[in-house]
Amino acid sequence: MTKLKNAELVEVARKASDRAYAPYSNFRVGAAIALDDGTVVTGCNVENASYGLTICAERAAVFAAVAAGIKVIPRIAVAVVSPTDEKQSLMPCGACLQVLSEFMPADGTILVAGRGEFRLIELLPHSFGFTSEANRP
Ligand SMILES: [Zn+2]
Repeated sequence: MTKLKNAELVEVARKASDRAYAPYSNFRVGAAIALDDGTVVTGCNVENASYGLTICAERAAVFAAVAAGIKVIPRIAVAVVSPTDEKQSLMPCGACLQVLSEFMPADGTILVAGRGEFRLIELLPHSFGFTSEANRP
């Protein structure tokens, strides 16, 4: 497999949003994790009538990656498709950043459609953990 360019990975995330289950918010979100060997794992948001059980696309992708045996996530792309504003772009939530911090190096790349490229350390400089460099791969 060839390594996807950042713009290609964002497009994969956008396509993953097509599979979102979002009957309540109508916000469709897709995420795509890319490994350096070209492996890609996607996720989408999955809502629930009991709203608190809803899971974001980023965490769905991380959990799918871990289930596939992946423990280090160097790069993830996130794309939101808003029901009201096609140009709307939203940043990953704190819960997803914390989950990412378990598997992504501090300098791991987070690509946000419509916003650009960030490092995990920029978005979550002080993650929760049991050591000063908590669980960083
Ligand atoms: Zn989230």
